[in-house]
Amino acid sequence: MDPSADCDIVYYSTKSVYSETKGQAPEGIPFLSDFSSISDSATACSLEYLNEGGANLVFRITPAGAKSLPEALSGRVLRLAKHSREEAAILDHDDQELGAHNPLSEEAQYRYWVKVLGDEAVLNHNVVRLSGSMKDLINSLLACADRSEHRRAHAWVGGRTGFLVEDMTPQEGETLHEFKPKWLDQSPSAPRGATRCRTCALRAMRSVAGQSTATDLQGFCPLYLFTPRAKEALSKVFHDQAIMDHITTELMPMLSTLRDYQRRHDEVGIVHVQRHAHKQNEDELIKLGQAMTARDCTIYCLRRRDGSVKARIGDLDLKSCTQDKVEKWLLLEQKLINGGWYEGEDEVCLLSNG
Ligand SMILES: [Zn+2]
Repeated sequence: MDPSADCDIVYYSTKSVYSETKGQAPEGIPFLSDFSSISDSATACSLEYLNEGGANLVFRITPAGAKSLPEALSGRVLRLAKHSREEAAILDHDDQELGAHNPLSEEAQYRYWVKVLGDEAVLNHNVVRLSGSMKDLINSLLACADRSEHRRAHAWVGGRTGFLVEDMTPQEGETLHEFKPKWLDQSPSAPRGATRCRTCALRAMRSVAGQSTATDLQGFCPLYLFTPRAKEALSKVFHDQAIMDHITTELMPMLSTLRDYQRRHDEVGIVHVQRHAHKQNEDELIKLGQAMTARDCTIYCLRRRDGSVKARIGDLDLKSCTQDKVEKWLLLEQKLINGGWYEGEDEVCLLSNG
């Protein structure tokens, strides 16, 4: 089969959702299906495998024939979550899907972050409903896609929703750069007089253990973002003047908001939260999860051919505060404190060089 083969789908308007599924789908949600139940209101388009990670599959959407894409699909890619078989079995029942496994909550999260960070700042994504027949269609597409060796054996187990995500794929002459701003302020649990911020302390610990991540290797201290030396520090991450200019001008209000948000949602630190666990309420844990989410987001910067930059913030899936997760955060913080990683001279950190 042709490895670049694509396949046809149909885009429906909201009305068709009610006739096609038994769930109580809210108004305005688009619907994708194969051709088995074509209607006059549908628009034909094609899907093409683009890429995938451990958690999601991503497909390009192109118009079929001479028609252009409906507005809701234009400039979007289709993102499908790789559910486990257990999750997929639950998701096959529409009524339950809209209950405990509510995919709409992800869209609600998107709206939440738009409120916090601004309309233009957040990577746009909207939920799309899928017909049951999409599972076969997606798998036939995967069967002839150029997937990496270790993923080839894994079919898509299905699901009744996907996401239409703003397409940041670079076109010819464009480049996409990713940047994780991490902890924009010191950890409230850090010892007094620390000479490393939370991001630099973790980087130092991982470096000695031989566990450096790609972000660690950039050697960037996020505290510099709010100083006159921001560009100098950013030059370790980017080699493009236009992107550095964009971050230090256009993105500064959003980065300040992100820093304030991180502060307001974790004022006392994980060590304090855990020490007073008997008094902690659910709201406090939710706030901590929100702070940790804001510390792990990604900024995508698309450098266009004309030199302009489009930046969006993503990876904002709210971290749920299960006991396991809180313990994991606490253990890491204690390792940083007890191992002395907040102390010692550091070439990179503002706290050592300010
Ligand atoms: Zn630092």
